[in-house]
Amino acid sequence: MSVALDPATAKPLDPAIEKIALERYVPPKKPSLVGLSRAALAEALGAVGVAPAQQKMRAQQLWHWLYVRGATDFEQMTSVSKQLRRMLAEHHTLDRPQVVAEQISVDGTRKWLLRLPGEHPGENPHEVECVYIPETDRGTLCVSSQVGCTLNCSFCHTGTQRLVRNLTAGEIIGQIMVARDRLGEWLGVERVKGPGLPTEGDRLITNVVMMGMGEPLYNFEAVRDALLVVADGDGLAISKRRITLSTSGVVPMIARAGEEIGVMLAVSLHAVRDELRDQLVPLNRKYPIAQLLEACRNYPGLSNARRITFEYVMLKGVNDTDADAKALVRLLAGIPAKINLIPFNPWPGTTYECSDWERIEKFSEIVFNAGYASPVRTPRGRDILAACGQLKSATEKLSARERLALRAMAMTD
Ligand code: SAH
Ligand code: SF4
Repeated sequence: MSVALDPATAKPLDPAIEKIALERYVPPKKPSLVGLSRAALAEALGAVGVAPAQQKMRAQQLWHWLYVRGATDFEQMTSVSKQLRRMLAEHHTLDRPQVVAEQISVDGTRKWLLRLPGEHPGENPHEVECVYIPETDRGTLCVSSQVGCTLNCSFCHTGTQRLVRNLTAGEIIGQIMVARDRLGEWLGVERVKGPGLPTEGDRLITNVVMMGMGEPLYNFEAVRDALLVVADGDGLAISKRRITLSTSGVVPMIARAGEEIGVMLAVSLHAVRDELRDQLVPLNRKYPIAQLLEACRNYPGLSNARRITFEYVMLKGVNDTDADAKALVRLLAGIPAKINLIPFNPWPGTTYECSDWERIEKFSEIVFNAGYASPVRTPRGRDILAACGQLKSATEKLSARERLALRAMAMTD
């Protein structure tokens, strides 16, 4: 058997720290055009017989139908000749990931459960969830990068899932396509109405956070390719300033993320001492705090206007003392930073508890007095997710996805 390799360093994996992601899915016989870059669209056009001189222009047309108008049927593409539409439909679809459930909270939070192709019939479905969190002046979409996660952070339910598979770039973009479909946010399409949707500005999805399931920097190429499509100003057009990638600290990939993607960075710090972080985020044994912060200091494009968000989950009696808060502030000195305190969302079987509210307030006061705005987000969508992280869903199996959604609630910035 071949040795499993670390996706960041290509050295053998330490199974105590991480699992290996499988590429266990069979792409559909007729691939979807949804999620393709301009270059890939031009290639697909070439494959159905479009002459090289025409490919760029035709790709631009397709781009517009896909990412501005959200076309779901080739017949909608009226600026494309009938013959080309027919050729494309013979070889491709405009499919998005399949939506298997939708829940809408009274506060407007929406979540979609998406099913992705697996390897063989009968195996556990590959499912991810995507969550939309509207506020008056913004709408944030929380997107997944993997089914499950190769890392095993001890407080995170996703980490307990055994099956891990990387999403394709198309499946990552597909989450945004689905959200736009369900919200009616396409040129020429009627928008949904309902409580809680943003009332300021003219867009429903203004921000994307890679804070769903998975470690985005362990699926680097797909995440990069997807986010570059998402940020393209002529298409989905969500600017890089409004896209945040959250990492548990894959140090060797942080500079590349800045250079090749250029979105905002969030780092799951959660502890100020290596000894504790080793337990909470086992990847810390590979890339300890000092190395992680050094990579942060060198993050391309970092400035006071483009700060790194440090995420800190509030765990009762574990990382929540005044001394921890003071050490946190000291640790981040000199790094343009924001601090995001996340109330822990408990899940069945966890031994951690969320810090008491007074403790979170005291912690946040210390951080605030040191000059950081430290928003603590109230969970959203309580009715569809239930209080304190206990979504009452049909089966216990849903709990991984509940965690994801609940986390997202706490994460909008
Ligand atoms: N894998 C990436 C991104 C997804 S997790 C990462 O770890 O950064 C998004 C955030 O939710 C991370 O900061 C993660 O540590 C946090 N998180 C995970 N489980 C949580 C839980 N049960 N309660 C609160 N936050 C949690
Ligand atoms: Fe993976 Fe992030 Fe959960 Fe850690 S916190 S197990 S990196 S999803």
